Amino acid sequence: MILDGKSLSAKVLEGVKLRVEKLERKPHLVVILVGEDPASKIYVRNKQIAAEKVGIKSTVLELPNSVTEEELLNKVEYYNNDPDVTGILVQLPLPKHIDKNKVTMAISPKKDVDGFTPENVGKLAIGLEPYFYPATPQGIIMLLDEYKIPIEGADAVVIGRSNIVGKPVAQMLLKRNATVTVCHSYTKDIESKIKTADIVISAVGKKIVRCKMDKKNSVVVDVGIFRDSNNRLTGDVDFDLVSSSAGYISPVPGGVGPMTIASLMYNASKVY
Ligand code: NAP
Repeated sequence: MILDGKSLSAKVLEGVKLRVEKLERKPHLVVILVGEDPASKIYVRNKQIAAEKVGIKSTVLELPNSVTEEELLNKVEYYNNDPDVTGILVQLPLPKHIDKNKVTMAISPKKDVDGFTPENVGKLAIGLEPYFYPATPQGIIMLLDEYKIPIEGADAVVIGRSNIVGKPVAQMLLKRNATVTVCHSYTKDIESKIKTADIVISAVGKKIVRCKMDKKNSVVVDVGIFRDSNNRLTGDVDFDLVSSSAGYISPVPGGVGPMTIASLMYNASKVY
């Protein structure tokens, strides 16, 4: 069965829209974009379009590549203190002369719609409820829940340990009582771990999941997005090979990608 992120994201966005309509204090998302990175510009534009669709006010602050760290920190501080602004997102990557950790840490945890600040990351790590879960992991969990995939007691294998996907999704699965193995570039014999898993979540950016699954109800979630040698958008999973043995599989495109944006809009609709 296909884990259809495209249709679930439409459902989630519809829910967010209704939620926003009922809110007394309306959300306002500020997206800070530094520099001219074309991919970042597209991501920011897509976030703006999604926000518009669900009735969330959004403001994009475009700053030149030459902006200093101090100037950027001052902007973050300004929006932290602006009661009209309920969410702040600094689009990554930032230019090399700016410390992204310093900037992320400056965002108020109650406006940190990306869920990247130490308070939100730390709350997740110690099993408390953060103000915001990071968008991609939260979108993955929504997808698993939509298809009633049992997480409790499942053997889950997460491939990749980035701060934006691998680590938080592993923690979210752990919070839901899965037994979690986190793999990375130093892991030995990944294939044997993948094959025997109940749930595989791959967030690498390389074709890494290319084996048959042992369990017929196994679930494979493909987070990766990159271009293959023919310049086609593809994911970490060899879809044809894996789908013949797994019970559930998410496609690329149309799987985790649309869930990420829906999950971000869900976060942006939260007002603290
Ligand atoms: P990242 O920061 O580059 O991390 C990649 C991870 O993969 C690292 O932990 C790395 O291990 C691990 N890795 C690299 N080669 C490996 C190998 N041969 N075997 C096992 N592990 C290996 O990536 P990310 O930001 O998490 O993104 C991962 C992928 O997901 C990318 O394709 C990205 O475009 C995509 N993505 C998609 C969405 C979406 O909405 N669909 C959202 C975010 C990211 P080390 O830590 O040991 O280096």
